[in-house]
Amino acid sequence: MKAQPKASHFVNGAYLEDTAGDVIEVTYPGTGEVIAMLHAATDAVIDTAISSAVAAQKSWAAMAPIERARILTRAVAIIRERAEELAQLETLDTGKPIQETRAADWPSGADALEYFAGLAPTLTGETMPLGGDFAYTLREPLGVCAGIGAWNYPSQIACWKSAPALSTGNAMVFKPSEVTPLGALKLAEIFIEAGMPPGIFNVVQGYGPVGAALSIDPRIAKVSLTGSVPTGSKVNAAAAPSMKHVTMELGGKSPLIVFDDASLEDAIGAAMLGNFYSSGQICSNGTRVFVQRGIYEAFLTRLAERTGAIISGDPLAEETQFGPLISKAQFDKVMGYVQTAKDEGARLICGGSGKGLFVAPTVFADVTDDMTIAREEIFGPVMSVLPFDAEDEALTRANDTQFGLAAGVFTADLTRAHRVVAALQAGTTWINAYNLTPVEMPFGAVKASGFGRENSRHAVEHYTQMKSVYVGMQPVDSPY
Ligand code: NAD
Repeated sequence: MKAQPKASHFVNGAYLEDTAGDVIEVTYPGTGEVIAMLHAATDAVIDTAISSAVAAQKSWAAMAPIERARILTRAVAIIRERAEELAQLETLDTGKPIQETRAADWPSGADALEYFAGLAPTLTGETMPLGGDFAYTLREPLGVCAGIGAWNYPSQIACWKSAPALSTGNAMVFKPSEVTPLGALKLAEIFIEAGMPPGIFNVVQGYGPVGAALSIDPRIAKVSLTGSVPTGSKVNAAAAPSMKHVTMELGGKSPLIVFDDASLEDAIGAAMLGNFYSSGQICSNGTRVFVQRGIYEAFLTRLAERTGAIISGDPLAEETQFGPLISKAQFDKVMGYVQTAKDEGARLICGGSGKGLFVAPTVFADVTDDMTIAREEIFGPVMSVLPFDAEDEALTRANDTQFGLAAGVFTADLTRAHRVVAALQAGTTWINAYNLTPVEMPFGAVKASGFGRENSRHAVEHYTQMKSVYVGMQPVDSPY
């Protein structure tokens, strides 16, 4: 099997196998070929992973931050040297076009590691003068953190979680999605090669129950989940009894509002990027595209033209811009939504067909707010276009959802752009751009889409805790 790793798990600095665990069959969505067979972590594997992380974390936390940074920076260099090999593996694991995995997945992960390696040594506390006495603060790691990943950006997610966690002195046990288990193992290998002590970054494979076991274990101080809202609720509940810190990066149904003064080509380009990249399997996608009535038909005509020109095919071929969905289950789910949209009276502009694991890039127009495709996260290449007349109306409709991950606005009117993003209920917003997530910018959600932030210096707050130190400099003034 062409992508078989040495073993299923990476624990305490080495590959580890336990064939007693449930079988995980890894398929390449491009062809359906089985490329690896792994086993889910048994209780024994989970316990070894957590124990080794607990044992290793204290001395990792005691190192000078710049020493930790040096190791992470070496890992970044290795990732960049092996960029092509890692992109190929990511394409095999996810079925995403090689064009994308070269540009987006590991490169974004490497950026995160580089950013937090640079940031961690600059973190300092504060001093509070108290007139003789004084106080100061220390920022401490939480301990052992669990990371649980989704399948759409497996290696990026592993990096986005491990970078702020490890740079600030935590250890991590990471559980990739069972659908895309391969990239995180490479990250674990690379960390060891870069000089990271064993036990600081462990990978355990598994289905939901392995994530649940991590979420409930009292030795885990924090859980960071990227996944769906229902899984988020379960993880949050499991983490509550032991008062774990929690970061939730969950699903969305994000609005993209296009006013009639916007650059049509840019707005269409962004709408396509925000619906068809990664075959639509992106949490922050702008799947409800509100277009102002004056440009509505022109928008649809040009959108159909440009969508029709998308090159779909073999993910490993250089020219391919659009690949299959991750699995048969996801394909069936997305095709089910396409059928529902037709049944509920949405106007099919292009796409709508499916073959193998490929769903053609699909656009529905005249979508109304109550249609199923306007309310539920599809996680596939299905764009809903909804006409609107006035700004207030667009805002009310855009915000009428349980989700609050992302939102975008296209307009040439600067005042309106800022007014609109201020009113949008979303954690991450774009003006005249969409779905760009540089590491410098906080990424996260409001409402049911989650809480906590990844990327930027704000992520540090979610992987550290503050200690206050009061220093008495004079005789104790006690009434007793
Ligand atoms: P999912 O919720 O099915 O699974 C996510 C992860 O949680 C997997 O590793 C899974 O094994 C694990 N899991 C399942 N049940 C669990 C439980 N009870 N306890 C602990 N862990 C459990 O999501 P998915 O289908 O893998 O990914 C798609 C979803 O992820 C979409 O909703 C998408 O929007 C979301 N997502 C969000 C972001 C973000 O940053 N906000 C990014 C990518 C994907």
